[in-house]
Amino acid sequence: MAKVLDLYINGEFRSGHGPDTFPVLNPATQDTIVEAPFATADEINEAVEAAKTAFVEWRSVPAPERARLMMKYQMLLKEKQDEIAEILSQETGKTFADAQGDVWRGIEVAEQACNVPAMMMGETSENVARGIDTYSLIQPLGVCVGITPFNFPAMIPLWMFPMAIACGNTFILKPSEQDPMTPNRLVELFYECGFPENLLQLIHGGKDQVNALITHPDTKAISFVGSVAVGQHVYRTGTDSLKRVQCLTGAKNHMVIMPDADKDQAINSLVGSSVGAAGQRCMAISVALFVGSAQQWIPDVAKAMSEVRPGAWDDNGAGYGPQISPQAKARVLDYIEKGKQEGANCLLDGSDCSVDGLPQGNWVGPTLFSDVTPKMTIYTDEIFGPVLVALNADTLEDAISLINANPYGNGTSLFTSSGGAARKFQSEIEVGQVGINIPIPVPLPFFSFTGWKNSFYGDHHVYGKQAIRFYTETKTITARWFSSDAVASANMTIDLK
Ligand code: NAD
Repeated sequence: MAKVLDLYINGEFRSGHGPDTFPVLNPATQDTIVEAPFATADEINEAVEAAKTAFVEWRSVPAPERARLMMKYQMLLKEKQDEIAEILSQETGKTFADAQGDVWRGIEVAEQACNVPAMMMGETSENVARGIDTYSLIQPLGVCVGITPFNFPAMIPLWMFPMAIACGNTFILKPSEQDPMTPNRLVELFYECGFPENLLQLIHGGKDQVNALITHPDTKAISFVGSVAVGQHVYRTGTDSLKRVQCLTGAKNHMVIMPDADKDQAINSLVGSSVGAAGQRCMAISVALFVGSAQQWIPDVAKAMSEVRPGAWDDNGAGYGPQISPQAKARVLDYIEKGKQEGANCLLDGSDCSVDGLPQGNWVGPTLFSDVTPKMTIYTDEIFGPVLVALNADTLEDAISLINANPYGNGTSLFTSSGGAARKFQSEIEVGQVGINIPIPVPLPFFSFTGWKNSFYGDHHVYGKQAIRFYTETKTITARWFSSDAVASANMTIDLK
């Protein structure tokens, strides 16, 4: 029997009491690495109660003190970056370089959380009426919840709890059951920095644990990242339960390639952003939209893609790792089959892919379809594998119209050498994150991660200034003091001891 991970509840790392565990499989071998214990309803209630009690003290710890602890945390994460990345590679199959990037992008948010004293400053207006001042206080909410997906087990938890806790909240993390070892290590390191106990509770589980957390009367805000179907459920249920909710969901990201683009740059970027991380990135480019004569480059794209191969996490020559599970692989193969049946031209077929020495891995090779139409399932659905679909457009206007008609709006990019085309694109496109000659335009954490349309449900986005708004409440004070008070106070003797 594999080791069973701990939960962190009510001041201690401890074994779960529930009967159910979830096996965490190495996706390159199917070996069970650990088991994740699914928390019981009692354990969830205990975690919420402990977080609620801890909030009473933590909210009054001065913001600079909270920030100082966060400075220690981001330093420790940097020291341990490679150790965390190795754990992450084991359970996700990501190449080591990719795993290091996953951890780093999370550390950057923890760094940003150290700015919280300045970011939580309110506003003041003196003399809004004679002798009356108005000022605002930015105050934390209470117990916040984070529900995270499998594909970034370091970065996405770190998008959430450092900002929430730096703002003075307490937090309950429910990571993906498919790769819970990395989040466990993040929580252990958090407490090694000297944070008071119970600020961050760790619950493992799936659907039932999520539903218990999002409907619990004492949780105040829910941050969710995952698929669109689950995100819509979490958003509806969370808002029905009168919580503040932000849900970052699925995507279908287009790259538009103009005939005046730098051809080599465009093709390299297209290949890396479509098959990198086995296509399991919410900002992966999954649609290539060639404008006019740029479609002549499709055979070059097929050739460049065919030179990338998947492999083990410690294989330096591997471009990417396996799909997270056999089910995820079967789903991708199903889409490749549907693409063929619906009449798309499969220029590169990765369905029959193997890696030497790892026959059980969830491998899918780079796959490219041309002659795809907007009605085909391989265009309408998020595939979440190393599958790129190519469409053609006559003009930039046509490309913009196609993207704007797509229900998702996470990311998009344009490759061109024309400033005019770039300006038109960034102004007219209905997508929340736009790259100009940049394939995966994920904003750094002093901005926010701003998906639109079906890629995001909520009002305030994760990290950056919007995270401060999401994790806090604004209180506005209007105050009047009488001049007779000043006279009385001048005559008062105050004992300062
Ligand atoms: P998922 O929706 O299956 O799981 C996400 C979380 O929800 C997990 O913690 C899981 O335990 C929980 N969950 C699963 N089924 C549930 C249910 N029926 N009810 C309640 N909770 C449930 O997503 P995933 O497969 O782990 O992640 C991949 C998806 O996440 C993709 O669609 C990807 O686009 C999306 N994603 C989006 C972003 C973004 O920023 N927009 C970032 C990363 C991933």
